[in-house]
Amino acid sequence: MMANEVLLFVEQRNGEIKKSSLEALGAAKAIATSKGGSLGAVVAGEGISGLAETLGSHGADVVYMADHGDMAHYSTEGYAHAVTQALDKSGATILVGSATAMGKDLAPRLAARKDWAFLADTTSVAIEGDKLVVTRPEYAGKVISKLATAATGVVLTLRPNSFSVPEASGGSAQVETLDVSGANIRAKVVALETKEQGLVDVAEADRVVSGGRGLKEAENFSLVFDLAKELGAGVGASRAVVDAGWIGHDHQVGQTGKTVSPNLYIACGISGAIQHLAGMRTSKCIVAINKDAEAPIFQVADYGIVGDVFEVLPKLTDAVKALNS
Ligand SMILES: Cc1cc2nc3c(=O)[nH]c(=O)nc-3n(C[C@H](O)[C@H](O)[C@H](O)COP(=O)(O)OP(=O)(O)OC[C@H]3O[C@@H](n4cnc5c(N)ncnc54)[C@H](O)[C@@H]3O)c2cc1C
Repeated sequence: MMANEVLLFVEQRNGEIKKSSLEALGAAKAIATSKGGSLGAVVAGEGISGLAETLGSHGADVVYMADHGDMAHYSTEGYAHAVTQALDKSGATILVGSATAMGKDLAPRLAARKDWAFLADTTSVAIEGDKLVVTRPEYAGKVISKLATAATGVVLTLRPNSFSVPEASGGSAQVETLDVSGANIRAKVVALETKEQGLVDVAEADRVVSGGRGLKEAENFSLVFDLAKELGAGVGASRAVVDAGWIGHDHQVGQTGKTVSPNLYIACGISGAIQHLAGMRTSKCIVAINKDAEAPIFQVADYGIVGDVFEVLPKLTDAVKALNS
């Protein structure tokens, strides 16, 4: 079998491939193609054999399946074991993943294990001559760095929502089964508790509605949830309101929260402190609603509404509701 130039680590949840992984698939395929090679994709889980078809139709040439009870839940040791096996089988020298919670945990471990270069949280990737060239936001998004490496082994993670999902072409992938029964998993997940069923994870959402201290009190956060529901959006928050206990930390956007890069980010009653901007300034279209025309959030906003969230949000929600009906 021909070696794969590039290997993609694919994340799935409940048997569905995460959108961030499909985005990464498009970028990984482009790297493989420009190096004149093929693309392998490794996926771990239990009862996931059906995913090979989706991965093949989106551009994977070979799918390495780690389908085993021990892979049902993510564990660093188990998944690192599976991906290492796929790397060895594929002969790939470039490993691509997503800069998600899982990818941020797994990728550096694999880079260290292989002693490869590591490029984290990139927003563009290209091959220029013999170099892999990426861009990544740094210093809270104030600087966009362009980095190049000619290293023979590279691990890179891609920021979700920065790359587009490739069209399904109807291609198919060869399937290789990995024997992951020998994974030495010392920390096991015994139960999984999820909350707020039905809400999109803010880090991966295509649209985000975020609320800040301008909402005055916890109960008023329902205005943010109402608009998010109509838009099919994730719900974000500033640290001020997370610290105040209005909403959980998993919604916090910013330097000490999540980094989001959706197509639409609506900031409601958020001042736009540098630590908040660090987590959202790469969003494609930023809408700010704030009653202070001087609020720093307007400096990064594409559309600004100088107004009271208590007046603007219900009107906006009604308008979207009308469009949806
Ligand atoms: C080390 C460090 C890390 C940090 N990490 C983060 C982070 O990850 N994420 C983060 O968000 N912050 C972070 N912060 C905190 C950050 O500096 C700000 O304090 C915080 O972002 C402010 O939140 P806010 O915009 O909701 O509140 P405020 O700054 O109080 O702003 C509230 C805004 O609402 C507006 N407003 C008031 N009433 C209304 C109304 N009725 N209608 C419309 N607008 C209204 C006001 O004009 C104001 O602009 C961090 C700080 C430090 C020091």
